[in-house]
Amino acid sequence: MFAEPNAVSSENPAGAPAAGHVPSSAASSGARRPSAGGSSSGGRRAPYPVRRKVCRFCAEKVRDIDYKQIQILRTFTTDTGKILSARITGNCASHQRQLTRCIKRARNLALLPYVSR
Ligand SMILES: [Zn+2]
Repeated sequence: MFAEPNAVSSENPAGAPAAGHVPSSAASSGARRPSAGGSSSGGRRAPYPVRRKVCRFCAEKVRDIDYKQIQILRTFTTDTGKILSARITGNCASHQRQLTRCIKRARNLALLPYVSR
């Protein structure tokens, strides 16, 4: 029992949690983990308003990604030549699949590096 006698003494002398007006000590003694981090919302949440990423190819209405346009493909790779994930770029699934295929095709034709330090 975590009920503080002086906090609830004005309304409820017995210290039992009242129906309408629940003191904070009674609420925290429930099923909540003490190491939740203090935030009431459980999930991860950015402290700033999240900007929704839009698929670049959908925005430009690109139907088929060209493997020869390496200046576009290069923007979706890291400096070391790795393909950026759709979580980072915000591509939709179908365009990300196309992009991956095109980058691998361009790598095979030596238009893009497999790896570059
Ligand atoms: Zn798309």
